[in-house]
Amino acid sequence: MKSLCLLGATGSIGQSTLKLVDQHPDRFRITAMSAHTQIDALIDLCRRYRPLQACIADSSLFTALRDGLRAEGLATTPLAGSEGLQDMAADNRSDTVIAAIVGAAGVASTFSAARAGKRILLANKESIVLAGQLLMQTVAEHGAQLFPVDSEHNAIFQCLPAHGGHAGVRRLILTASGGPFLGKTRAELATITPEQACRHPKWSMGRKISVDSATLMNKGLEVIEAHHLFGMPADAIEVVVHPQSIVHSMVDYCDGSVLAQMGEPDMRTAIAYGLSHPERIDSGVKTLDFRTLGRLEFLPPDTETFPCLSLAYTAIGRGGNAPAVLNAANEVAVMAFLEGRLSFLAIPDIVAQTLDALAWEPAADLSVLMASDAEARRYANNRIH
Ligand code: NAD
Ligand code: MG
Repeated sequence: MKSLCLLGATGSIGQSTLKLVDQHPDRFRITAMSAHTQIDALIDLCRRYRPLQACIADSSLFTALRDGLRAEGLATTPLAGSEGLQDMAADNRSDTVIAAIVGAAGVASTFSAARAGKRILLANKESIVLAGQLLMQTVAEHGAQLFPVDSEHNAIFQCLPAHGGHAGVRRLILTASGGPFLGKTRAELATITPEQACRHPKWSMGRKISVDSATLMNKGLEVIEAHHLFGMPADAIEVVVHPQSIVHSMVDYCDGSVLAQMGEPDMRTAIAYGLSHPERIDSGVKTLDFRTLGRLEFLPPDTETFPCLSLAYTAIGRGGNAPAVLNAANEVAVMAFLEGRLSFLAIPDIVAQTLDALAWEPAADLSVLMASDAEARRYANNRIH
């Protein structure tokens, strides 16, 4: 029986994880769960899963959580804030932490899980983008294990040699759906609304990552993620647009073999693999029917219309705090777009301006990177105003 600490339980990845828990009550037990502000949803989940701990990230809601749990007669210990998330991630009553918070808000708890030597299912790509080298180092030092839940990285993880390392690997090929605006010109994107940007053709996801998919920044973040997770240089990580989202990514070996992982676009496959590795379990995802699949297409990305992908390569090239700055500026710009304060086309502009304006610093430790994150947020917010 695995004991799971589910960070971001109310989100899209959180909900997919809970479906797997419902399907395999003999294998998985929820010991802790968190939400940002959705207090009623969190209490409801506590009623259903009876965790030992529950954390509301917005500390102003602590009393509401405590009283709500008490009113339900639940023995769940209430926690709050970033400290609460970190305590929960390190608590020795769970062996597995599912890091499914969105944004840099997930960094501290991911590191806490790593320092506690946990098995970590990493959905929160922003933490590895912001502090990739430090995170990989912390994982290694404390004997933690990192399982990528991002579908592309999970695919690559499945296609790499089972004994670890990447002997004979020539390239990693990340597939991108192209998002809802594939084939559009810049002029056609001038008046895009948040609702249009969040209507992804293949994947159902949270709003921030949906916008990232529409700008191609999601693929940029994923290139940085792959660079750290698999220790491959950026020029050996290629992005190809694959609108059908059936091939989740590929590994190209020096002998000419290309291994691909395929499946329906449903995150439960990747989460199930992380939960049960090295075994495999039923995820409830339907099997691919190749007779009705039709055509699988592969095209180069349009980096003129979607400059965010190139900005991510620039950030890897600069190294140090540059990926943290890129990530923070992007979070601020996406939030402003979702709130109607910024146009869709201005998102890459804000990211590029912030990347150029901030001083470069080496990624000496997490506090340096968090300071760059904060400074980038201030700068990007000022540009938007
Ligand atoms: P979501 O918006 O649906 O859910 C986010 C979760 O994080 C919620 O539980 C929310 O309460 C919590 N949260 C939000 N802000 C917080 C804060 N400031 N502090 C603490 N908790 C906070 O997002 P999602 O789509 O589930 O994505 C979660 C992460 O997984 C992201 O990093 C995303 O890039 C990654 N990811 C998601 C998918 C997907 O299919 N949804 C695929 C690959 C990777
Ligand atoms: Mg992905």
